[in-house]
Amino acid sequence: MSSSEFVIDMQELESLLDETAGSDGEREFGTAALAFLRAHAQPKPPLSTTWGVGPEHLELFHETSDDEERAEADAALAWQRTKFEAGFGWIGGPSEHGGGGYPDSYDRLFRILEGRFDVPDPSPIRIGIGTVGPALVLHGTSDIVEQFVRPLYEGKSIACQLFSEPGAGSDLAGVSTTAVPVDGGWQVNGQKVWTSNATFADIGLALVRTDPSAGKHAGLSMLLVDMRSPGVEVRPIQQMTGGASFTEVFLADVHVPAGRMIGEPGAGWSVATATLAGERKAVGDRSHENLTRAVELLRHLGDAEGFDDARLRRRWAEVAIGVRASRLRQQGLQSVPAEYVAPAERTADKLLTAANLAAIGDLAADLLGPRFSVDTGEWGTFAWNKWRMGALGYRIAGGTEEILKTLVAERVLGLPREPKELR
Ligand SMILES: Cc1cc2nc3c(=O)[nH]c(=O)nc-3n(C[C@H](O)[C@H](O)[C@H](O)COP(=O)(O)OP(=O)(O)OC[C@H]3O[C@@H](n4cnc5c(N)ncnc54)[C@H](O)[C@@H]3O)c2cc1C
Repeated sequence: MSSSEFVIDMQELESLLDETAGSDGEREFGTAALAFLRAHAQPKPPLSTTWGVGPEHLELFHETSDDEERAEADAALAWQRTKFEAGFGWIGGPSEHGGGGYPDSYDRLFRILEGRFDVPDPSPIRIGIGTVGPALVLHGTSDIVEQFVRPLYEGKSIACQLFSEPGAGSDLAGVSTTAVPVDGGWQVNGQKVWTSNATFADIGLALVRTDPSAGKHAGLSMLLVDMRSPGVEVRPIQQMTGGASFTEVFLADVHVPAGRMIGEPGAGWSVATATLAGERKAVGDRSHENLTRAVELLRHLGDAEGFDDARLRRRWAEVAIGVRASRLRQQGLQSVPAEYVAPAERTADKLLTAANLAAIGDLAADLLGPRFSVDTGEWGTFAWNKWRMGALGYRIAGGTEEILKTLVAERVLGLPREPKELR
C-alpha cells in the first residue's frame, strides 16, 4: 500500500469519527481508540468487488481444518489481549473487574473504527465476549465475573454455549441433561448438540435440569462447565459445506463444583433468555460490508448472465434495496441508547439479515442455473453454493425464523397467543 493511500484512509477515518461520536466524551475516547488502532494495525484494504479478481470470499461459515481453526482462535485471543491491555478490550464492562465502565455507545464507536482495520477475525471468541460474558455479568456473582468472565475479555479464555440438545432446540425449556447434587457440587449427565467452537472452548455455559418434579421452566438451572473436566467428550459435526464448526458434546458423570451455578437453582431460564437476546443481536449485527459486496458481485453476474430478463433485474433491485434498508434500520437503532431498544427490535434485525442472506443466494442460484450446483472451476459460479447453504444456518441459529416470527406476532403485534398445548 502506498503512503498516499494510507493518508487518504486516515482522513476518511477522522471524518468517520466526526460523524459517529455523539458527545465530547465519545470524541475524546474515539481519538484515543484511533491512535491505538493506528499503532497496532494496518487499515483494512477494501474487499475487491471486481469480477474475477482474488478469492471469491462467499462462504458464510468457517471451512477450515482443526489446526487452522486453532490458529485463528489463537490470533483472536492475542488481539483481544492487546486491546484489553490498552483499555479497549471490555469497554462496557464493570470497572471493578477491569472493564471500562463506558456506555454501549462507546463500544459501538470502537467497533465501527476497528472495522476499518485489518485485525484478526473475532469469530472464535465471539460467543464468549458477545453472548456468554454479558449474561454472566447480569446474573453471576462477583466471584464468577472475576474468575471466569474477566479472562474472556482479557483474551485468556474461550466460552461456548451448551444449550441445544437432540430433543430440545426451539423448545429449549425441554432440555433433559440432568445435574444432581453431590458432595461439593453437581454431577451432570446428558448430551448437547450444535455447540459452536466447543473443540477449543475452555468453559461452557450449560442449561441443565436440576428438578425434574418442578414445572418445565422452573426445573432448570445454569452451570459453568470446565470443558476439560473428565467426562466431557466433544465430537465435531461435518457441515454439508465441508467444514466442521459445530459439535456434539457428551457429558458423562461430569463434576461441576458448587460455586459454578449461575443464579439460584431453578433460575436457569432467565439466564438462558438473557444469553439468547445477546445471540440474536450478534447475528443481526452481521457485517454489512459482506452483504453489500455480495450485492455488487451479483450485479456483475447479472450483467453477464441474465439481466436481459426484466424479472431477474427486478429481483436484483429488490435484494439491493433490502440490504440497504436493513443497514439504515440498524444504523437508526444504533443511534439510540441500548436501553430504549426493545428485544423484539433486535429479533427483527436478525430476521432481516437472515432473509437478505437467503435472497442473495437464491438470485445467484437462478442466474447461474446448473453451474450453481456443479463445480466447473469458473470464478464466481460454484462459490455461491457455499453462500446459499450457509444462509440456511443463519435462518436457524439463535432461534429459527418460525419461532421468532411467532415472538414478534405475539409480543409486538399483539396477535392472539399460539395455543401452548400444540407446542
Ligand atoms: C449456525 C448455528 C450455530 C449454532 N450454535 C449453537 C451453539 O453454540 N449452542 C447451542 O446450544 N445451539 C446452537 N445452535 C442450535 C440452534 O440454537 C438450534 O438449531 C435452534 O434453536 C433450532 O433447534 P432445532 O435445530 O432442534 O430445530 P427444531 O426445534 O427441531 O425445529 C425444526 C423445525 O420446526 C420448526 N418449529 C419447531 N417448533 C415450532 C413451533 N412452536 N412453531 C412453529 N415452528 C416450529 C422450527 O422453526 C424448524 O423449522 C446453532 C445452530 C446453528 C444453525
